[in-house]
Amino acid sequence: MTRSGQAATTPSGGKLTPMFRQWQQAKRQHPDALLFFRMGDFYELFFDDARTAAPILGIALTSRGKGTATSAPMCGVPHHAARNYIARLVKAGHRVAVCEQMEDPKKAKGMVRREVVRVVSPGTLVDADQLDPGSGNYLACLAGQAPGPWGLCLVDLSTGGMVLARAGNEPALAEVLSRYEVRELLVASTSAATLEALLGRHGLGEVLLTTLDDSLFEPLLARDRVVEQLQVASLAGFGCEDDHPALPATAAALAHLQRTQRVQPAHLDRLRVEDPRRILLLDRSSRRNLEVVANLRDGGRSQTLLEALDATLTPLGARALRTWLLEPLVEKNAILARHAVVEALVQRAEVRASLREALREIRDLERLLSRAALRRSTPHDLAALRRSLAALPEVREALAGLTAPDATALAARIDLLEDLLGELGAGLADEPGAAPGEGRVIREGYDADLDAVRELARGSRELIAGIETREREATGIASLKIKYNKVFGYFLEVSKANLSRVPPEWERRQTIATGERYVTAEIKDLEARILSASERLAEREKALFEKLVDQVVAQAGRVRETAAAIAEADVLAGFAEVAAREGYVRPSLAEDDRIEIRDGRHPVVERLLEPGRFVPNDCLLDDKRRLLIVTGPNMGGKSTYLRQAALIVLMAQAGAFVPARSARISLVDRIFCRVGASDNLAGGESTFMVEMTETANILHNATPRSLVILDEIGRGTATWDGMAIAWAVVEHLLRDTRLRPKALFATHYHELTELAARHEGLENVHITVREHGQEVVFLHRVEPGPSDRSYGIHVARLAGLPDAVITRAWEILEEISGEHLADKLGRDRDGVRQLSLFESPAGEPEPSPEEAQALAALRECDPDDLSPRQAHELLYRLIGLLGGQSSTTR
Ligand code: ATP
Repeated sequence: MTRSGQAATTPSGGKLTPMFRQWQQAKRQHPDALLFFRMGDFYELFFDDARTAAPILGIALTSRGKGTATSAPMCGVPHHAARNYIARLVKAGHRVAVCEQMEDPKKAKGMVRREVVRVVSPGTLVDADQLDPGSGNYLACLAGQAPGPWGLCLVDLSTGGMVLARAGNEPALAEVLSRYEVRELLVASTSAATLEALLGRHGLGEVLLTTLDDSLFEPLLARDRVVEQLQVASLAGFGCEDDHPALPATAAALAHLQRTQRVQPAHLDRLRVEDPRRILLLDRSSRRNLEVVANLRDGGRSQTLLEALDATLTPLGARALRTWLLEPLVEKNAILARHAVVEALVQRAEVRASLREALREIRDLERLLSRAALRRSTPHDLAALRRSLAALPEVREALAGLTAPDATALAARIDLLEDLLGELGAGLADEPGAAPGEGRVIREGYDADLDAVRELARGSRELIAGIETREREATGIASLKIKYNKVFGYFLEVSKANLSRVPPEWERRQTIATGERYVTAEIKDLEARILSASERLAEREKALFEKLVDQVVAQAGRVRETAAAIAEADVLAGFAEVAAREGYVRPSLAEDDRIEIRDGRHPVVERLLEPGRFVPNDCLLDDKRRLLIVTGPNMGGKSTYLRQAALIVLMAQAGAFVPARSARISLVDRIFCRVGASDNLAGGESTFMVEMTETANILHNATPRSLVILDEIGRGTATWDGMAIAWAVVEHLLRDTRLRPKALFATHYHELTELAARHEGLENVHITVREHGQEVVFLHRVEPGPSDRSYGIHVARLAGLPDAVITRAWEILEEISGEHLADKLGRDRDGVRQLSLFESPAGEPEPSPEEAQALAALRECDPDDLSPRQAHELLYRLIGLLGGQSSTTR
């Protein structure tokens, strides 16, 4: 975990200067933040803050009052570049408190008044350039005690999103935090140590932990605080009970945001209560293994389902798509509604094109709105909002033109906000300047007062030009110029050669290398007029700009509702675009406990191959084919086949079309995906431990409506242990009627294919390969029945292992498969399989007493009752009984 907490340091000895006293006061209010203390055109950092920040920012550490009793280490950054510096510190896991000068130093009597106006932390970023447009930026606040249950409030200050969730235990909590990619976690100070350890255990060490006073979590006041924020009489409209365990966390989060942002976050005016029964649950490792939004290679977005399906054109759509893929639906009607709109848009290519054309114009309405509510809007923000609003009629028209009732309903949710658009159109200049105050933000003709001062400033400037011409003629100094700088204001500049021509009444202001600078009474007078005109202009324009921002905030609810409809339209139009481009079809939804995919493809792998090279495959799962054992050569495409089934179901339930010739899906409640072996060393778990923990999770939580993908489980340990576990897991999945999920199980343990003969609901399929001597051709076609071998050495040869190694490997394989391995496998010399180890009761050879004991122990054990450690011990016992083959590795 990263922390920026540090105590305020006082200068060593000596009396504090008034400025340091002011600094110390601000620092005391925000001891865990780096204090950016505004002094003129710079923000300065002192003491430990300076020591921490200087190396991160790559700036020099100097000192103030060197050699005096109040000497202080310091570093500083120019105020106009502060945003970048703050962003760098926040990225490095620090909080930054920005302490501003609250009055004009020229007008201040005594010390300039300063106040902390904002605390910036990873969970409170709102500036567009510091955020990923395609992801939310969540802060979570947690109420409750370890070991749970907890109530969580998840707030995205940058979009105004607020979600209430529950987490019954530690893994559930880690799951919510990781699903929302929470950047900062607020907890009561008494829970901080426990939570810090918990985050570490779950690989969430990057989350910044911020502690709040316990009193903020007072449950008795929580509901009222939330009701007040949302400006409603009751929470029932949000589907939230009055005693929802997340309410104290919500109240605490709101109080914290108000304190750190120094404004009431009025845009947090609605909330969503998460209901796990309404989403297809994908736990953390399944999400990772299916590479839904992040790839396994580097955690990036390339080669993920998200990338393959993302044809969105707005940040609103990009974020919604991410959420839809992480939280697919389980309610048939809601899914059908999405499919219907996609279908209509696939069929009407011209409507899709005009809809997408209009969507291109729409900017990040949610984040524009949030910045307005936090009083952080720029003129460019309002211009972006105006441009977006102007595109709404076309979006609405396109949607309304589709015959699907759900498209019409979506169109009806788009409020054209003509009143707001009218106001922005009238008030804001066509291409406004970067900041109000110089007369380039508010349109001419909008406000008579502003126009008058603008005219005055402009007229005065013309007068200056007139004086310049007149004096040039009067003095005969052809190079005479009237110039301006901040220190001396307006002045006449005369080069050395012309000094003799300067009239005596001119007043000398400054000597420079090339000549002298003068002022006249007339220039001084004009300057005063110009100055007061520009001050009035700045003041008036700022006020008018703020009024426009107020109008945006006043329409927050309408803007947000429209933004939500735009987000949906964008995702659906994107689904249609991808479907048309990639040849996806509309899946049909069934309720007959059957998944039937014809000529299915993997949406990501397909894109990596040349067009037409991906070999489509069927996948049928029903009561007779509950569990498929998938065997085949290395590199044959087992993993691809397994994942494509899971991804097709996930896509269908997210509302998308799917890569197949046809797909009929009975809705699933959960998808589990355990693929390959992976380490969680940071969490203190070995490869095998992770594998077993994830398998245990599946066995504890799967239901008959779940889809389970198991890719080579058991391979993280010795062959025989692994096979025994894999075998037992398959049997358990099939036998336990509370489980019996639909499952696909890929394995190199060909012995498992024998199970099909003994268990109903289990079938073998294999991936075909053609062999020519030492060469193999992967056909990637899935056929019924088991495969006979793994072709590992063929693949090793393809991978470029030296010939000598390959030749030797063939020799060894021949040797061990002829003698040693044959013994262990119970094959006879002719290669006839006898399966002595797991012989059926009806089979011929009797097991040895040790084998019988091992079998009995396996039958007796209930994996549900075993802790991972007990499972490990049981394995050792089994291996001991079976003659200690644990050292035999594959
Ligand atoms: P291993 O047993 O070594 O883990 P595997 O059988 O799981 O291998 P995959 O990783 O699924 O094999 O696939 C290997 C490669 O084969 C993929 O990267 C892809 O390029 C190709 N491939 C897989 N399936 C198909 C297919 N249906 N059509 C065309 N190419 C495919």
